[in-house]
Amino acid sequence: MGLFKSKQPVTATIADRALVCLVCGHGQFWDQEVKLNTSGMEFLDLGWANQSALGLICASCGYVHEFAGDAVKLWELPRS
Ligand SMILES: [Zn+2]
Repeated sequence: MGLFKSKQPVTATIADRALVCLVCGHGQFWDQEVKLNTSGMEFLDLGWANQSALGLICASCGYVHEFAGDAVKLWELPRS
């Protein structure tokens, strides 16, 4: 421990509310940038999102939650 910066799951909040998995209720996620379909984004008038979004993958069941914009705050879990 300490020599490698191994990727750890994170917790996330949106407007001060903790995000939990929509499927299983788990509260820890792997974060991953997700490329979005350009035409779809333009249709939704979300061109400002720069064609990428934040993907939060449930660390328990793997369900992927996707967010455009910067409303989501990520929090690293305290290392033990
Ligand atoms: Zn889940």
